[in-house]
Amino acid sequence: MKLYSTNLQAEEVSFETALIAGLAPDRGLYMPGTLPVFTEEELTSLKDKPYPEIAYQVLRKVLEGEIDEESLKEITYDAYDYEVPLEKVDDITYIMRLDRGPTASFKDFAARMMARLMQYYLKKENRELTILTATSGDTGSAVAHAFYGLDNIRVIVLFPTGEVSDRQRKQMTTLNKNISALSIDGKFDDCQAMVKQAFADGDLKHLNLSSANSINIGRLVPQSIYYFYAYLKLRDYPEELIVSIPSGNFGNMMGCVLAKRMGVPVKRILASVNENDEVPSFLGTGKYAKIVPSKNCLSNAMNVGHPSNLARLIAIYGGEMDEQGRINKMPDMERLRQDIFSISVTDAETRAVMKEFYDEYGIMIEPHGAVGIKGLRDYREKTGDNTPAVTLETAHPAKFPEEVKAVIGVEPQLPESLKRTEAGEEFMDSLSTDYSLFKEYLIRKLE
Ligand SMILES: *Cc1c(COP(=O)(O)O)cnc(C)c1O
Repeated sequence: MKLYSTNLQAEEVSFETALIAGLAPDRGLYMPGTLPVFTEEELTSLKDKPYPEIAYQVLRKVLEGEIDEESLKEITYDAYDYEVPLEKVDDITYIMRLDRGPTASFKDFAARMMARLMQYYLKKENRELTILTATSGDTGSAVAHAFYGLDNIRVIVLFPTGEVSDRQRKQMTTLNKNISALSIDGKFDDCQAMVKQAFADGDLKHLNLSSANSINIGRLVPQSIYYFYAYLKLRDYPEELIVSIPSGNFGNMMGCVLAKRMGVPVKRILASVNENDEVPSFLGTGKYAKIVPSKNCLSNAMNVGHPSNLARLIAIYGGEMDEQGRINKMPDMERLRQDIFSISVTDAETRAVMKEFYDEYGIMIEPHGAVGIKGLRDYREKTGDNTPAVTLETAHPAKFPEEVKAVIGVEPQLPESLKRTEAGEEFMDSLSTDYSLFKEYLIRKLE
């Protein structure tokens, strides 16, 4: 497996190199040049397998020659030791709950696999590194938990002070040990910009920094697996499936694009966004404009005004977008529009869906999942396409207790994993968005 950079100015590298580096030296994002394609027989043979086995079989093909099979199998079964429920709403609609991992969001799927893969390579070479990651809430906690207590890896998480819930913050601040939480007086986009600048800063080279955001290819590949899983549980080859994905930085959606490339019959990918509607606008008009600053919506993990994975999406459809969001070469818009349908959902619509699902079906969903459901509904209304669909619930309702309680009048029950962090002592540092102060902080902390 060779990976290229979306900025096309860097050499192709192995999976291990891309995983450890995070960002390419030309500041582009790594993308697999080729992907294996699963035949009908191969897909069908996985039909009744449990999640970790499907994950192992998919990764074995994708990472062929990059890791020995025995270690991979061990890593996969260790990472995926929790349930992946598919909940039926009606004959053509299912909710896939990706909220049963240790930090109760879908980010656990990627973070747990990436942490274990990194540890595998670092141990082999007796190396150490520091993960620098910006989070709008759930990435930080998933990454912090995934790496917590590992020997060769330190983690620094930047989060926007006012934009994460108390519960999200506690999941990052109560760990300590090799995990540092850094509260930034700004927005998610500021945190992301600071992290990117640190990676590009020659003065910090000796600190061995790496990323764990959705910009790391090690996060993206595991996010293709649950699309295999949903397909295998719900459909028989070659029947098609529609998927609705609540999207912010578009890493989850890119996972689906990869799964489709690998042969999963996904008819259409619905990228459902909140009021940060730069992607639906782009698909509609062919003109891209970031939203600066990003809008604060109820589904706070999706408040992204310029999704970093957009460069990857554009690359895979034959175009080129630089890290500023400038499109140097247009992708094949016709094919892009055929495969991906993007819908913006308002906060009022989000609340209405949460309430309706609870009152009518007795199903509790949180704001991100509600955006996915509403996106699917709008799609069906606009196109009349009633192909069976799965919509993703990307977090547990208990991660957003105030929002859920305010809308449906009921406090969601805390899963066991979250109960433990509630009581813990918090450790964190605070900074402004001034890059020079951040740089000093890193040097002080890591040198
Ligand atoms: C991160 C996150 C999203 C958005 O996922 P992207 O890969 O950034 O598009 C959606 N829902 C929840 C709960 C999240 O934490």
